[in-house]
Amino acid sequence: TTSIVVFTRDLRVHDNPVLAAAAAADYILPLFVHDEALVATGFATGRRRRFLDECLADLDARLRERGAALIRRAGDLATEVARLAHEVDAAAVHIAADASDFAERRQRRLAEALTTRRCELVVHDAVHTVLAAGAVTPQGNDHFAVFTPYHRRWVGAFRRKIASAPRRLRLPPAVPEPEAAVAAGSESGMPGGETEARRRAHRWLSDEVDRYHTRHDDLAAERGTSRLSPYLHFGCLSALELVSEAGTRHTDGADAFVRQLAWRDFHFQVLAARPKSAHDDYRTRGDAWRDDPQALQAWQEGQTGIPVVDAGMRQLAAEGWMHNRARLVTGSFLTKTLYLDWRAGAAHFQRHLLDGDVANNQMNWQWVAGTGTDTRPNRVLNPLRQAERYDPTGDYVRRWVPELAGLDDPRDLHQPWKLGPGELRRLGYPAPIVDLEKARDRFQQNRQLGPDL
Ligand code: FAD
Repeated sequence: TTSIVVFTRDLRVHDNPVLAAAAAADYILPLFVHDEALVATGFATGRRRRFLDECLADLDARLRERGAALIRRAGDLATEVARLAHEVDAAAVHIAADASDFAERRQRRLAEALTTRRCELVVHDAVHTVLAAGAVTPQGNDHFAVFTPYHRRWVGAFRRKIASAPRRLRLPPAVPEPEAAVAAGSESGMPGGETEARRRAHRWLSDEVDRYHTRHDDLAAERGTSRLSPYLHFGCLSALELVSEAGTRHTDGADAFVRQLAWRDFHFQVLAARPKSAHDDYRTRGDAWRDDPQALQAWQEGQTGIPVVDAGMRQLAAEGWMHNRARLVTGSFLTKTLYLDWRAGAAHFQRHLLDGDVANNQMNWQWVAGTGTDTRPNRVLNPLRQAERYDPTGDYVRRWVPELAGLDDPRDLHQPWKLGPGELRRLGYPAPIVDLEKARDRFQQNRQLGPDL
């Protein structure tokens, strides 16, 4: 028998239940389809496309070491899989379940395309996440809407064994060996692929993770967090394997890190239960979001005149990654200070983030905007206080806002407008586009204000 394994964003050979199940057949056909519908959304462009190509080249190499190779196609996923299933007379197609509306529609169409060919479709849960969506639920609801009780149930609820990488794979004899997947040489600081992912995870877990609980909010610390999110997004790493290995360390840092991975599962199960929250408010709060293209552009370009906000936005543009604390600050600034629609922020992040993913991006944006699962949806992050607390030396701002790099005193650095308009002009840095206090009042008029953090 022949099984087709359709890789989507599970681009790895280690602990990949989809590959492991397909490998039980006599022959295996590993397939990746550049889905034209996904490409059309702009989801796989620029930096992300480069990262994906590197992932595919590495996956192909890992499969070749085991005797198989990756077939690549472009077009409609359901049509391409069905065509190949017909060509090789496949008995089964294996694919990972995903949470978005898009993935669900795609899976339905794939199932329809395969029934006419008498080929079984096997959909595997808990491939992208540690725990499958819906594996734990509270009484009276189909998903957890609050993180803490979810986390309590999540810990210890996962029982799937780590799937070892298959040793030997065989392509069907009639299939000509595909050309090797190659990626253009990368100049990025974050090259894609499982080999690189495992190297980084190993380094992180063998030492740095133990300090995570004290450093993860430090904006300037280069190694304060794992920076594994793009590798997790593309599935170069198994979240379950990461959690299992971190769990063996029994340190406060490793425990805090594992808790963060539970957030990833939490958002996934919310989106799986409410796929429309990719676009619509998860909780309607009647916000009258403003329309202000100029302010939006200033935010996007890191020209708001609030240094810690601009630093975050410029890091995003330069690296395709942003520190979590900066995501919170820039997100709160857009939605609660500028009072602009979270969807505009989410779309901008999605265009630039290497780790951009519907569940984590949209649900975190909703969390920040107060339309999501935050139990204190009215809290406003004060960017000045956040900067004082999480960038006390000003090194984060110095790194990303070079106009201000010459200012020694962090107080000047975080509030350069206090130096006067002449000095700001000399530095070539904009005055704030918004009065922070007035903005708070505006927000207050629309919502009952929570504590200012
Ligand atoms: P670490 O601190 O090392 O954490 C380890 C892993 O845990 C991360 O790689 C990630 O997979 C997971 N994680 C950590 N925090 C969160 C969180 N709050 N929600 C979900 N998972 C989390 N994360 C994405 O992966 N993709 C996104 O598109 C995304 N968009 C975001 C948008 C906003 C407005 C905010 C506030 C957060 C967003 N996050 C997103 C969550 C978080 O900022 C990133 O996962 C994290 O910064 C990645 O860096 P890291 O790998 O060093 O994280």
